Amino acid sequence: MKTKCLIIGSGPAGYTAAIYASRANLSPVLYSGNQPGGQLTITTEVENFPGYPEGISGPELMDDLQRQAQRFGADIRDGLVTNIDVESRPFKVTIDSGDQIEAETVIIATGASARFLGLDDERRLWGMGVSACATCDGFFYRKKRVAVVGGGDTACEEALYLSNLASKVYMIVRKDYLRASKVMQARVFEKENIEVLFNCNTVELLGEEFVEGAHLVEHKGTDLERHFNIEIDGFFLAIGHQPNTSFLQGKVELDEAGYIKTFGGTTATNIEGIFAAGDVADPRYQQAVSAAGMGCRAALDAEKFLAQK
Ligand code: NDP
Repeated sequence: MKTKCLIIGSGPAGYTAAIYASRANLSPVLYSGNQPGGQLTITTEVENFPGYPEGISGPELMDDLQRQAQRFGADIRDGLVTNIDVESRPFKVTIDSGDQIEAETVIIATGASARFLGLDDERRLWGMGVSACATCDGFFYRKKRVAVVGGGDTACEEALYLSNLASKVYMIVRKDYLRASKVMQARVFEKENIEVLFNCNTVELLGEEFVEGAHLVEHKGTDLERHFNIEIDGFFLAIGHQPNTSFLQGKVELDEAGYIKTFGGTTATNIEGIFAAGDVADPRYQQAVSAAGMGCRAALDAEKFLAQK
């Protein structure tokens, strides 16, 4: 099987690239990856995507984007890309089913995944109280006590969602301020059952089979250092993301954090004919709308590259 344009990833960047590439008659093939629809399928309301004055649910938005891409003929498939032979022309791309596909251009839009603190207990109690998705697992914590780690927009969003289910929500924040946008901060501080624990780090999770608590240290390494436990049933990670680029190591140039480097104010990577879009290539903005914009640019860059060839 051959294609002019192979798109890897099905978040806002991937689908927008598919819309543009289809309309440019590139007949793109898009592989959806592990989480079809991407990170927005595990969020609740999206309030800041232009065009939706009342907001829209994440899954609905992704469904709309997928249908819009299909309307123009994008070939959307299940499957995970496991390898790209960047030496061959066309590129030889391997799918987890074992199939190979030849692509004249590739747009990488594989996004990013939730990060862990690195505690052994996180792995040990994963799915037993430890989660990285409040909207997926929040239901299990009705009238229970939970903690959310992190002080960014994701952490605030998770804490707010959980505060409508759980009896008590702690936010464990390592600095003395929240990094989240002002509007999210205000919503958090308004909620009576959310308590923000500033200057705190989690050092251990308690519980044999299920999470029963967390051991925290406040003002670590200072004269004010204090250790204490909180009783919780759920521990939600919201400390940012890491780019999904492990399959590109040694093939496409990445920065020190693993994000794909793009050049010349375009979506071009160091490999001619391979372009990158969305969170996988954008450590700075990481917004659905900026990812969609970059997906558009990647498709235009791919079209121009093919036209010049
Ligand atoms: P961010 O990088 O913005 O925030 C990560 C948070 O986790 C920070 O508070 C950070 O602390 C903390 N953190 C990181 N590592 C550790 C650690 N090892 N231990 C303890 N705390 C840690 O990530 P988000 O996922 O929140 O957001 C990513 C992007 O997506 C942002 O641009 C955000 O604005 C956007 N977003 C927007 C939403 C919206 O507009 N509704 C919703 C969700 C995300 P510190 O501040 O000390 O570094």
